Amino acid sequence: MKITRITIHALHAPITNTFFYSQGYYPGRDAVLVELHTDEGLAGWGQCSGAPTTTPAVIECQYAPRLLGKDPRDWNVHWHALGGLRGGHYGIVSGLEMALLDLAGKAAGLPIYKLLGGAVRDRVKVYATGLYKLERWTSFEAWREGLIEEALGYRDEGFSLCKLKIGFVPVKDAQLVHAVREAIGPEMGLAVDANCAWDAATAIQVGKAIESAHIAWYEEPLPPTNLEGYREVRRAVAIPVSGGEGLGGLYAFRDMIQTRSVDIIQPDIIICGGFSAMQRIQVLADANHVRLLPHCWGSALSLAASLHFLATIPDGAPSITPTEPLLEFDRSDNPLRENLLVEPLRQQGGYLPVPQGPGLGVEIDSDSLTRFRVAKVMAQVGG
Ligand code: CA
Repeated sequence: MKITRITIHALHAPITNTFFYSQGYYPGRDAVLVELHTDEGLAGWGQCSGAPTTTPAVIECQYAPRLLGKDPRDWNVHWHALGGLRGGHYGIVSGLEMALLDLAGKAAGLPIYKLLGGAVRDRVKVYATGLYKLERWTSFEAWREGLIEEALGYRDEGFSLCKLKIGFVPVKDAQLVHAVREAIGPEMGLAVDANCAWDAATAIQVGKAIESAHIAWYEEPLPPTNLEGYREVRRAVAIPVSGGEGLGGLYAFRDMIQTRSVDIIQPDIIICGGFSAMQRIQVLADANHVRLLPHCWGSALSLAASLHFLATIPDGAPSITPTEPLLEFDRSDNPLRENLLVEPLRQQGGYLPVPQGPGLGVEIDSDSLTRFRVAKVMAQVGG
């Protein structure tokens, strides 16, 4: 089997509820998908991370020619050759490797989790990421009441944990955290995410102000370039500290994990370098007693890929109630998650089922693809 042609789909979906986090706002959602065609009629899909304006050109010029004529079943060979371990655009390699594995699975008639060694579960526990600041909440009171209503909705849906966006104004952030905790009660998990907004002193100040709200983890209080600051926060605040969602390549993760800068490492399967990178990061994390809690904030394809990976990860330390892996499930407005597949991935009682079909086990909805495609940057390479 040989790859004969590569189609790059740059997608954009406008959304109705513009939402804010500490670094900006989202009036829409983007994705860059790759579709690998073969001489046997099969096609494999992957999602890359990167801007839809520039990423297709990099794939077209730098990466696609190196895959044409190759057998997708040698996916790990190609991962190394494309720079999955060291150097390059890890977000692009991630998507190409996903498409190679989708093809390898379809060729074998097996889901990706089987190619990785088999699944230990057929559903994955997920937590709700939401609780952003919506544009329409024009007063602090509306913001607070809106967050409370949204958090209670997650509790009613059966989620055991939800994550709140902070990183705006420290005093108000702390008030919002306590208001949400009070509303949802003591049983439900609550995590907070500052999206790299602060320096160590501010992060410690806020961390201490929210410790009593029983926070499951304190995500990206600082930029990942400030590892010493991460360690200061860890030492000063009695909340597990997490980070790493934007990192690519094994060595960036090594630096964060081996320096004990975080309690929880959060690689993203379309940013870190793909399945092969995730497997290596998991080994690093295991060996250093750091918890792995993958980030996932892309289209339905990155969600499906994350489910296949987490299906293969055993529970945590032996106990009567062992900790099962947990995946981020973005609940913010995203048509590329809800409408991209013929059968969307739906949570039930705080779990998502692992797709069971060959490859990624999902089918792209061609009408949605056409609807969201940004025609001017779509590219095609090969015959
Ligand atoms: Ca995050």
